[in-house]
Amino acid sequence: MALTDEERAEIRELLEAEAAKLQARIESTKDQSDPVKLDEPIGRLSRMDAIQMQQMALAGLTREQEKFVRIRYALGLVDSEDFGNCQSCKQPIDIDRLRFQPEVLVCVRCA
Ligand SMILES: [Zn+2]
Repeated sequence: MALTDEERAEIRELLEAEAAKLQARIESTKDQSDPVKLDEPIGRLSRMDAIQMQQMALAGLTREQEKFVRIRYALGLVDSEDFGNCQSCKQPIDIDRLRFQPEVLVCVRCA
């Protein structure tokens, strides 16, 4: 067993907090990344600026969605006996690594 019950509970809390945070951010980014309406006046921003900003928002959204998926996946595994062990070499993952990035499933050496 890689983790104590306390450590497992701590990592679960970290994962749940991160999932909630990401979900909120994904929701609010979605609102901002509606397609640029071409015939609407967009104030001081040029249309190119607006399109560029939208692309950046979408790139960030994709990254956050990917992280959200990894976190949900880790949440699904957090109660299994193997959680906290590297999925590649089966050695325990350093608890500080899990605290920093609770969704990681492999150790530093295998990452
Ligand atoms: Zn490993």
